[in-house]
Amino acid sequence: MTTNHSNNIKDYLNDAHTFLKDLSIDEIGDEHISTSVETPLRKDAFVLSDEEKRKRIEFHFREIMETLGLDLNDDSLKGTPARVAKMYVNEIFSGLDPANKPAIALFDNKYKYEQMLVEKDITFYSNCEHHFVPIIGKAHVAYISSGSVIGLSKLNRLVDYYARRPQVQERLTVQIAAELKKILKTEHVAVVIEAKHLCVSSRGIKDTNAQTITSYYDGLFNEESTKQEFLSYLRLG
Ligand SMILES: [Zn+2]
Repeated sequence: MTTNHSNNIKDYLNDAHTFLKDLSIDEIGDEHISTSVETPLRKDAFVLSDEEKRKRIEFHFREIMETLGLDLNDDSLKGTPARVAKMYVNEIFSGLDPANKPAIALFDNKYKYEQMLVEKDITFYSNCEHHFVPIIGKAHVAYISSGSVIGLSKLNRLVDYYARRPQVQERLTVQIAAELKKILKTEHVAVVIEAKHLCVSSRGIKDTNAQTITSYYDGLFNEESTKQEFLSYLRLG
């Protein structure tokens, strides 16, 4: 599946919204349809402390395991609810909390480098919000400076931050692009993501080879020559 949501992401999401009303929960999951660019969070999302969240998740995950018939007295299993709770809050879903957003320092573009900068093959691990199983992929990010530059490792950290949420790939793509545009105060941003969704390869349709590619282009990247230059760097090596 290839999707290109350059400027029509809003149209896409509006269409998705209308479309969703007629689907069952299994269909929504299997079609991987998102409803908004923002991660749907409740207003009270951060009323509970991380410690309280871990306690609650531990309790409820134990319920899930017991419902499945697992013996929580077993030495191998008894620590699992606490481990899952810690992993959810501290690691794989830590990007839900804006307090964990990486601090990004801007630098003046002293070298007067006015060409595109491409950071490619940024490996990320995310989780599908429809099935809570991994999405594993690579993000390729590019921008053309309009006066400011950021440290290269910050691009990786930004991808990582937005990946550490329950996600759909389209939203991850747009969230990274939107944040870059905001930080760098430039429209000239491109993001391409290629990823494998374990909910597609390990269950459901069980296609182990399928990859999903999403892209976002704005500013100069909407010009064919700029876009082609960017894509040619992705093909290298
Ligand atoms: Zn899924």
